[in-house]
Amino acid sequence: MKDKFKIGIDYGGTKIEAILMNEKGDEIKRERTAYDRNYDSGISTVKKFVEAFKNLSNKTATVGIALPGFSSNETGLVQNANSNWLNNKPFKKDLEKALNSEVKIMNDANCFTLSEAIDGAGKDYKTVFGIIIGTGFGSGLSFKRNIIEGANQVAGDWGHQPLPYPTEEEINTKIECKLPTCGRPLCAEQFISGPGFAKNFNLKHNTNYKAPEIVALDKKGDPKANKEFELYEDRFARLIAVMIGIFDPEAIVLGGGMSNTERLYKNLPRIIPKYAFTDKVRTKILKNKHGDSSGVRGAAWLWD
Ligand SMILES: [Zn+2]
Repeated sequence: MKDKFKIGIDYGGTKIEAILMNEKGDEIKRERTAYDRNYDSGISTVKKFVEAFKNLSNKTATVGIALPGFSSNETGLVQNANSNWLNNKPFKKDLEKALNSEVKIMNDANCFTLSEAIDGAGKDYKTVFGIIIGTGFGSGLSFKRNIIEGANQVAGDWGHQPLPYPTEEEINTKIECKLPTCGRPLCAEQFISGPGFAKNFNLKHNTNYKAPEIVALDKKGDPKANKEFELYEDRFARLIAVMIGIFDPEAIVLGGGMSNTERLYKNLPRIIPKYAFTDKVRTKILKNKHGDSSGVRGAAWLWD
């Protein structure tokens, strides 16, 4: 019997990671490397991994790629990538030519969600909303272990929507998103991503901490850090409540650096009912199972 192997690639802003899995999702091999941050270097790095992994398995291994943006179904060009050398480039076509085989490409937040929905924290739930709170803030929707991409391929991609029910304090921060494609006042990513969280704290207290340092202060009982986390949880709960009003998932799985903050799993379920339009919030808020590996695993599962 011929085994079916899957290759998953996570194309990050500074590093490219690759995994070789069998049909059951067992990891056979994984590698990660930095690359020159340009278009051609990205393609040749992916090619090197795919060729090596195909030689390790068999020539029929499928290839799925997680991208920090999406490959337009309409034009074939990459859109919304924060690795800006990818934008408006026919990445899928160029890569298929280089590899001489078909590839499937999906937004990295969707790959995270798919991985957690298939055999991660969300595996027992029909509807899963995956949220990445790291250097950015993005999400994906899954129904019965399939990703709902949406008519514009941005379903769940709520990171650059404005914060709902903004307080006077939040409006007065005058924080705006610097991305040329966004630029919106009160852009959620500027409050919920790790750097966004740290920026809000630093502006208020004239400090220069990174998010993990504020997390550590909070654990030690620092009142300023405690207060900032209360504000953070309230903002996050407002965003989640609005999303529940639209998609109403059974489970929400958190990933990215900020997802390691344990207090979120205790406090968010307590605050969300304040804002959600329902008698009782049954949605589970879960920590991811596969951590940083969900990007590559989800990419490999694109061929399932
Ligand atoms: Zn924005």
